[in-house]
Amino acid sequence: MADPEAAGANGEWFTRARRAIPGGVDSPVRSFASVGGVPFTVARGEGPWVYDVEGHRYLDLVQSYGAVLLGHAHPVAVAAIREAAALGTSFGMPTPGEVLLAEAVCERVPGCEQVRLVSSGTEAAMSAVRLARGATGRERIVKFAGCYHGHSDGLLAAGGSGVAMLGLPGSAGVPRGAVADTLVVPYNVVPELGDDVACVIVEPVAANMNLVPPAPGFLEGLRAACDRAGALLVFDEVITGFRLGPGGATAASGVTPDLWCFGKVIGGGLPVGAFGGRADLLAALAPGGPVYQAGTLSGNPLATAAGRAVLDHVTEADYRDLADRATRFAAELEAALVSGGLAACCPAVGPLVGLSVGAAGAELGVPVDYDSARAVAGNGVYPRLFHALLRRGVALAPGPYEVLFPGMAHGDAELALAVSAAEEAAVEVAAELDQALGDGREMPAVP
Ligand SMILES: *Cc1c(COP(=O)(O)O)cnc(C)c1O
Repeated sequence: MADPEAAGANGEWFTRARRAIPGGVDSPVRSFASVGGVPFTVARGEGPWVYDVEGHRYLDLVQSYGAVLLGHAHPVAVAAIREAAALGTSFGMPTPGEVLLAEAVCERVPGCEQVRLVSSGTEAAMSAVRLARGATGRERIVKFAGCYHGHSDGLLAAGGSGVAMLGLPGSAGVPRGAVADTLVVPYNVVPELGDDVACVIVEPVAANMNLVPPAPGFLEGLRAACDRAGALLVFDEVITGFRLGPGGATAASGVTPDLWCFGKVIGGGLPVGAFGGRADLLAALAPGGPVYQAGTLSGNPLATAAGRAVLDHVTEADYRDLADRATRFAAELEAALVSGGLAACCPAVGPLVGLSVGAAGAELGVPVDYDSARAVAGNGVYPRLFHALLRRGVALAPGPYEVLFPGMAHGDAELALAVSAAEEAAVEVAAELDQALGDGREMPAVP
C-alpha cells in the first residue's frame, strides 16, 4: 500500500498539488491534516475500489463522502453521462433532464412538492435558509452544534462545549454580522424557539460529527416546536436523502419538514444539489417571488442525467439489502476491533455506519451530540487505526468525524475483507498504545 514517506507517484503528485493548489486539496477534508502523512492520489475507481496513481488498490469506504451510491464508474451512470454529453453539456436554457430529476425527487420524498436544482449541497442549504427567511419575514435561524450544512457564511457557525452560542463565526473570514442571527444549540435537545426564528435546520440523522442518531422524539419535538413558533423546519438530507431509502430520513422518521436540502446521491457522482418543499413556500422564489436565487450551471444536463440514472436504478429491495449488510458490517467491525484489543463502538442507521475507537478499557457509547462525539474523536486513536487500515488496503475518511459509506457495490465479501483487516489493524494499534503506555507516555504522537 502507499507508503507516504516513499518517493513515488503519490508523493510526486501531492508535491505538485501543493504547489498549484492551497494545501494540495480542493476540500480540506481530503488532506491528511488530522491523521498525518501524505494523501494518495486517485487514478480511477471501480465499484467499491479505488486505485491510486501507483496502482495500489483500496477498498473505498468513503465513496465521495456519500455522493456515490452504486459504486465508482457504475455502467448505468457512465452510460447516462456519455449519452447526455453527446447532446451538449450546458445550455442555460430549460432541458428535459432537469424536469425529470425534479420529478424523480418529488415522487420519492413524501411532502416535497417542488425542488429547485443547484450545483452543491452548500448552495442548497444556503438557498433554503434564504427562502425560509424570505417566506417568513424573520431573520434568526437555529442550527445544531456538529451539524454541517455546507460552507456558506451564515451556516458555518459551529457549536461549542454544549453551550448554545450566538454569533461566533466558524471560520476566519466570516464577519460577525453574517452569523449574528445564527443560534447554535446542542443536537438531540429540542430548543425553545422565539417568534423571531425563521427556520430550524437539522441533519435528521447527524452524519458529520461521526454518526449521531436522532433520539426518539427529537425530530417530532422539533416539528412541534416549529409549529408553535411559526418557524419552518428544514431537513438537510444531503447525506440521508436517497441513501437511507428513496424517501430518505423523512420517510424513515415519519416527520415531514417544510423545506428539504439534497445533494450527494442525487447527482450520481456529479455536482448537483436541490432544495425544495411545499409549493406555496417555493412560490416565494424568483422569478415568481421576491427571493432571488440563480445558477449558470444549475440543472446541468450531465449531472441531472447521472442523478436520475442512479435514482431509477435502485429499488426498495436494494436499499433494504444494503441496510441489512451495513448493519451486519457495523456489528462485525465493532467485534473485530474489540477482539483486536481496542475499545470500539459502531452504530448503524440504515446504510450509514459510525466508528468510534479508543484504547482498550475506554468507555465508548454511541455519541448523542457534538460534545460526546468530540470527546472520542480527540483521543488520538483514530489516526493510528486509519493508517493501519490503509496499509491493509482499506480506505476510511482521513478524519474521525466522518461516517463509513458502504454502498450498493460493497458485497458481503468486500465487507468481510474490511472486517478482517480491522482486526489485524486493531492488534497493531493496541500494541503501539501498550508500548507507548509502557514508555510512560500518555498517548503516542500521531504518525
Ligand atoms: C456534504 C454536506 C453538505 C454540503 O454539500 P457540498 O456538496 O459539499 O457543498 C451539506 N449538508 C450536509 C448534511 C452534508 O453532508
